[in-house]
Amino acid sequence: MRIGFIGLGIMGRPMALNLLRGGHQLTVWARRAESMQPLLDAGASGAASPAALAAQADLVISMVADAPDVEQVMLGENGVAGSGRTGLVAVDMSTIRPAAARAIASRLLASGIDFLDAPVSGGEVGAVAGTLSIMVGGSSAAFDTAQPAFACMGGNIVHVGDSGAGQVAKAANQIVTGVGVLTVAEALNFAARSGVDPARVREALLGGFAYSKILENHGQRMLDRNFKPGFKSWMHQKDMNIVMQSAHELGLCLPVSAATAQMFNAMVGSGLGEEDSIAILKLLERLSGGEG
Ligand code: NAP
Repeated sequence: MRIGFIGLGIMGRPMALNLLRGGHQLTVWARRAESMQPLLDAGASGAASPAALAAQADLVISMVADAPDVEQVMLGENGVAGSGRTGLVAVDMSTIRPAAARAIASRLLASGIDFLDAPVSGGEVGAVAGTLSIMVGGSSAAFDTAQPAFACMGGNIVHVGDSGAGQVAKAANQIVTGVGVLTVAEALNFAARSGVDPARVREALLGGFAYSKILENHGQRMLDRNFKPGFKSWMHQKDMNIVMQSAHELGLCLPVSAATAQMFNAMVGSGLGEEDSIAILKLLERLSGGEG
C-alpha cells in the first residue's frame, strides 16, 4: 500500500520504519527536515508538505503531539485536506481529546477524506518492536483499509467504536498508566525512606497482586534512575488534562486522576517536563525532603 507518514519523533520514527519493513511504499514528511533522514536512508521518499505527501498515498498517518498539531497537518495550510485526494483514509495516532478527534473527522469528511483516531499504548519499546496496542475509532470501511498498516505497528488492534472512541479508550489508558506510575514511584520511595532496599521490595511485589507492567518496566527504570524519555512528562500532563477536561464536560468525579494530574502539573512547573514520566519519582523525593 502507498502510505504517507507525518511526524517522526520518538514514536513516529520506529512506527514508520516498521511500515517500510512490512513492504509498504512509504513517503514521509516532518517539520524539521533532519528528522526525515533515518527514514530516507531506510528507503522512504520525502515529501515537501503534508498535502504533497497525501497526493501520492492511499493512507496517511500522523503521529504528532496534540490536537492543534493534528489540525495543522490535516487541515492547515498545505495540509492533507488540501491534497484534493477524495477517497483517502487519514489516521491520527497521536493522543488528543476525543471531541477534537470527532471535529477533525467531520471537517475531513467534508473534503472526502475518511478519518480514524487510532492512538496507541506500549511506549517506545512497543513502537520499536511493532507490538503497540492500537485503539481505533471511526468507520469499519476505513478500519479495514488501515488494517494492513496497523498489523505492521501493533499487536493488539481493537476497533473500539465510532469516531472518537479510540481517544476515549486512550484517555482511559492514561488514567491507569498515570495513576500507576505515580503509585509505583510512591511505593519505591516509601521503601527507600523506610530504610529497605527498593529493588528487593519491587522483586517481592512482582509475584503478588501488586504486579503490573508498570511496576516491572517503569519500576526497574526508576531503580536505574534512567529518566531519558521514553514518554515525556509534559506529554503525560497533556494526557491527564485531556482526562480532566472530558470529566469536566461529562460532570464526572475522577478524584484519583485529579490528584495525578496535579502531580504532572508540578513536574512541568519543576522543570521536569522534558524528562520521562517516571521522573515523578524525583518530584516525590523532593516533596519528601529528599534530594530528587
Ligand atoms: P515526540 O518525540 O515529541 O515527537 C512528536 C513529533 O511530532 C516531533 O517529531 C514533532 O516535530 C512532530 N510535531 C509536533 N507538532 C507538529 C506540528 N504542528 N507539525 C508538524 N510536526 C509536528 O513525541 P512522541 O513521544 O513521539 O509522541 C507522539 C504522540 O504519541 C503524542 O501524542 C504522545 O502523547 C503519543 N504517545 C507517546 C508515547 C511514548 O511513549 N512516547 C506512547 C503512546 C502515545 P519536531 O521534531 O519538529 O518537534
